[in-house]
Amino acid sequence: MLLDTYGRVATDLRVSLTDRCNLRCTYCMPEEGLQWLEKPRLLTDDEIVRLVGVAVRLLGVEEVRFTGGEPLLRPGLTGIVERCAALEPRPRMSLTTNGIGLERTAGALRDAGLDRVNVSLDTLRPEVFQRMTRRKRHDDVLRGLRAARDAGLTPVKVNAVLMPGLNDDEAPELLAWALEHDYELRFIEQMPLDAQHGWHREGMITAGDVLKSLRTRFTLTPEDAEQRGSAPAERWLVDGGPQRVGVIASVTRPFCSACDRTRLTADGQVRTCLFAEEETDLREALRRGAADEEVAELWKTAMWGKKAGAGIDDPSFVQPARPMSAIGG
Ligand code: SAM
Ligand code: SF4
Repeated sequence: MLLDTYGRVATDLRVSLTDRCNLRCTYCMPEEGLQWLEKPRLLTDDEIVRLVGVAVRLLGVEEVRFTGGEPLLRPGLTGIVERCAALEPRPRMSLTTNGIGLERTAGALRDAGLDRVNVSLDTLRPEVFQRMTRRKRHDDVLRGLRAARDAGLTPVKVNAVLMPGLNDDEAPELLAWALEHDYELRFIEQMPLDAQHGWHREGMITAGDVLKSLRTRFTLTPEDAEQRGSAPAERWLVDGGPQRVGVIASVTRPFCSACDRTRLTADGQVRTCLFAEEETDLREALRRGAADEEVAELWKTAMWGKKAGAGIDDPSFVQPARPMSAIGG
C-alpha cells in the first residue's frame, strides 16, 4: 500500500489527463494561457490505464478522480474510463470538470463506468462568470450540470471558489440554487496555486467568511466528524438536513493529517501533495520497460516521503513550481 512516515495510507488517486483548458479562471491561469505540455511528454491512454492498474492492483488505490486542466478536452477520456472500469478490483471513478461539453458526453461517460462528477461553477451570474473565467460559457456549464444529473452521475457536486469583489456575496444564492437542483455544493478556499502568483492571504475569502454569509439565510449544523473520514470538505446539514453544504478550508483549516491522496500529473509524475516540491517520474520508468512491480516500488518510495502538511501558513512556504492546472486539481 501507499504508506507514509506519518502512518497515512493513500487510497485516493487524482489523475490529471491534460494541462490544457478552455477557460481562464483568474485564480488558476493567466489570460494568455500557459505553455502547454508537448504531446510526447503526455502519458498515452495506454500508459494511464497501466498506471491506474498498478495503483489498484498493487497499491491499494480504491478511488480514482480524473481531472486536469480540463479533462473533457482529452480525446480518449471515455475509453480510459471504460478500461479503468474493467480493472480488478474496480476503482470508484469520478471526474472534476468545468462542465463545458458535459452535455454531450455525460451519458457516454456513465455508460463507460464513471460513477459521479464534480462540476466547478463559481457564480450564477453570466456576466460575473465571464469576468471570472474570461469566457462566455456560463450556459454550457448549466446544461452540462443538468445532463450529468439526468445521466445519473450522482451525487453531482458543485465546486465554487469565492473571489473578493467578484462573487463573494453569492454564497447564499449559490446554496439556494444547489438545494433546488439537488447538487451538493462545496466552497473551496482559494489556494496559492495560480501560475501568475496572484494569491494573497489577506485578500482571500476564508471558510469563516463563507459560513458567516451562509448563516444569514440558512441554519447550519455540523455533520458528525466520523462521517467526514478523510474527506477534505467539512460538511454542514442545511436547515436540519438531509441536504448538505461543504467547505474545503485548505488554507485556514487544513486537513492534512487525514489526507489519503496520491497524484499523477498528465506527464506521468507522482506528487504526494498539491503543494509538494518533489516529483517522481513514472513515465520514464514505463518507457524504459520497467515491470509493474518496479513502478509500484517507485510509487511507494515517493509516498513514503510525503510531508506532514502543505504548510501554507508557514513562513517558509514556497508555492510549487507547477500551477494547479498542470498538477491536476
Ligand atoms: N478544469 C476542471 C475544473 O475546473 O473543475 C478541473 C481542474 S481545476 C484545477 C479543479 C478545481 O480546482 C476547480 O474546482 C477549480 O475551481 C479549483 N481551483 C483552481 N485553482 C484554484 C485555486 N487557486 N485555489 C482553489 N481552487 C482552485
Ligand atoms: Fe480551467 Fe479548471 Fe483552471 Fe478554470 S479552474 S482555468 S476550468 S483548469
